[in-house]
Amino acid sequence: MLPRLAPSLILTLVVGAVGGHAQALAQAAPTGPLPNVVVLATGGTIAGAAASDVQAGYTSGQVGVEQLLAAVPQAKKLATLRGEQISNIGSQDMNDSVWIKLATRINELVTMPDVAGVVITHGTDTIEETAYFLNLVVKSRKPVVLTAAMRPSTALSADGPLNFYNAVAVAANKDAAGRGVLVVVNDWVHGASSLTKTSTTAVQTFLSPLTGLVGTVAYGEIDFNRGPIGRHTSESEFSLDGVTALPRVDIIMAHENMDGALIDGAVAAGAKGLVIAGVGNGNMTAPALTALAKHAKAGVVCVRSTRVTTGRVGRNVEVDDDKAGFVASLDHNPQKARVLLRLALLKSRSTADLQRLFSEY
Ligand code: ASP
Repeated sequence: MLPRLAPSLILTLVVGAVGGHAQALAQAAPTGPLPNVVVLATGGTIAGAAASDVQAGYTSGQVGVEQLLAAVPQAKKLATLRGEQISNIGSQDMNDSVWIKLATRINELVTMPDVAGVVITHGTDTIEETAYFLNLVVKSRKPVVLTAAMRPSTALSADGPLNFYNAVAVAANKDAAGRGVLVVVNDWVHGASSLTKTSTTAVQTFLSPLTGLVGTVAYGEIDFNRGPIGRHTSESEFSLDGVTALPRVDIIMAHENMDGALIDGAVAAGAKGLVIAGVGNGNMTAPALTALAKHAKAGVVCVRSTRVTTGRVGRNVEVDDDKAGFVASLDHNPQKARVLLRLALLKSRSTADLQRLFSEY
């Protein structure tokens, strides 16, 4: 059990982390009535606490949404904020019931005329999956912005407060509309389909390796570079209406000397789809390919992705996808491919239709 820090100490630490930038904060503040931004907290390190400000060990999801809001009073100059607690978990524990609850609540909020945007606080471990899931099922052009932190709220130089401040600035900004679900961490604005976590511990952990950033944000000053890539939100064909459960899709990593045992095991465990985090351009050993093709023929959807950080997996490059009945993940890393496939499998689909989805979203 961790000793809990007094809220006043947490407040001092996090306010102190952003307190030296009053001039830049003032520049970022809008004129006229403030937009309403709703903050949905799910947990993560941004809400984490440690027993001391210089120790590596900590527990995610310790600080509630009201404490998070109180810790960054500067954000109240950008928007009128109110918070709701959706969950308070480390994002390694993210699950379908939280996803469905979160997406349902966002879809309610964005239909309210007085809500300008939504900020979601989340753990960094699976933020790319949640962001991409929301990018496919939220039905609105209004800004929906996730943010996170690599250091807990009690840490020396906690990164959460400024990330939160910047996320509120983006969610309150009209130019953020129509760019799909965004992730704001460490001064960068990422698209949900492009970002990936690249460092286990560094504050600069997120990259969008294939397509680059949607924009940058420094102390609330936003510079957008590009629009969204791929179909998303208001243009998405996916919907959670009436959905209470998502089909099982497993990710299996390829490696030297791989056999088909894990592939067979995943199907035996009930997987309706498989994503292979292949070597190189979505490759795997001959025995693994044989096992995969057997399941593809039996109706399990098999997607070839890659364990490599960047580069797309092309169709029919070293593997004959047409003959085996596989789908190539194209720009989707394994975790994004899994999210897309789970939503795609809510309807029965041909391999050609699934391949279309991977090229459009
Ligand atoms: N394990 C944490 C989480 O994903 C890590 C973080 O938030 O940085 O909740």
